[in-house]
Amino acid sequence: MNIRLSRSIVGEAEAEAVSRIILEDGYLGMGNETRLFEADLAAWLGVGPSQVISVNSGTAALHLAVEAVAALSGHKGGPPPEVLVPSLTFVASFQAISAAGCVPVACDVLPHTGTIDLEDAAQRLSPHTVAIMPVHYASNPWQLEQTHAFAHEHGLRVVEDAAHAFGCRHHGRKIGSFGDLVCFSFDGIKNITSGEGGCVVAFDPEAARLMADARLLSVQNDSAQRFSGSRSWDPDVLRQGWRYHMSNIMAAIGRVQLTRLDAEFIPARRRLAALYAEELSDLPGLTLLEQDTDDFIVPHILPVRILHDRKEAVRAALAAQGIPAGIHYKPNHLLAFFGGGRLSLPVTEQLYRELLTLPLHPGLNETDVKNVCTVLRQAVRS
Ligand SMILES: *Cc1c(COP(=O)(O)O)cnc(C)c1O
Repeated sequence: MNIRLSRSIVGEAEAEAVSRIILEDGYLGMGNETRLFEADLAAWLGVGPSQVISVNSGTAALHLAVEAVAALSGHKGGPPPEVLVPSLTFVASFQAISAAGCVPVACDVLPHTGTIDLEDAAQRLSPHTVAIMPVHYASNPWQLEQTHAFAHEHGLRVVEDAAHAFGCRHHGRKIGSFGDLVCFSFDGIKNITSGEGGCVVAFDPEAARLMADARLLSVQNDSAQRFSGSRSWDPDVLRQGWRYHMSNIMAAIGRVQLTRLDAEFIPARRRLAALYAEELSDLPGLTLLEQDTDDFIVPHILPVRILHDRKEAVRAALAAQGIPAGIHYKPNHLLAFFGGGRLSLPVTEQLYRELLTLPLHPGLNETDVKNVCTVLRQAVRS
């Protein structure tokens, strides 16, 4: 079988948009196209255009967001600020926190969703905790309201790692249309792509201003200058900044992708995921992750739990039929740079032994999914 785990879904329209920038516009850097992508994203989410800060990766979005909340927390001197984060996430979440000069405090997750366990997180609060970073694992914004309530109760900011969750809705509202700081990734395989890229949606104008400058080396108000095709020749710089802005080329791809989201990508991902759920329900030895029936989920990845220590055998059986399966993720608290397993997080470690990610992207069809499920059912039963 020639099935990929994930892939970019780009074609003629994206190629034409990029060649328009190269052949007609001629300005490849951050300019009018980037401004238009931010405006399109804002319109799609139903927020103001100045609330969307585009950057060149989802990791950059998380880094700037954590840095902004740390700067605004008034935390000065002494031990570094701490951010609560589930260990079951892409290492980008942890690296972004430490890049911002903060300590990622690894928390355990819930067994049925893989999302942060707020009771465990509560045990890990300290006087230095400034934020919580919920990760919408497998596009699931589970307990997002409780997470905000938890943050409110303990005086924390909420930086959502919504890299998996572009297009999702929680209790009727789009992810990125409410909250504090919401970070998206547009890397090649996410729900929409701009080649690489990402954005922060900010519900705090002060943080938005800090991040808009920080992505351009913290040159004050440089975003507005570039969007109008000029530069500041007498700027000032008050703090550390980064070279994280999004180019016109990336934005051109992203704008086309956004027009394909509602009619093409969302229905395709949801249809394939529903078919997986149908084919794999009631299969002893395999469980699907749970979802809130009031949420509208646009799945970026499709992890399932393979029980009874059978994961590696099942993975090998799939591989033998040319079906790739992934592992999302090796828990961060087991990585040498983030503690190397000094800490024990039992549920996260259990899920790490069980979770296997099945192929999912809009380039697959129903037959592909059925074929994967046939092999999978056999492997799980044997
Ligand atoms: C993709 C991803 C990121 C980082 O996004 P990039 O655009 O690849 O830098 C962060 N967190 C999670 C959970 C992701 O899946």
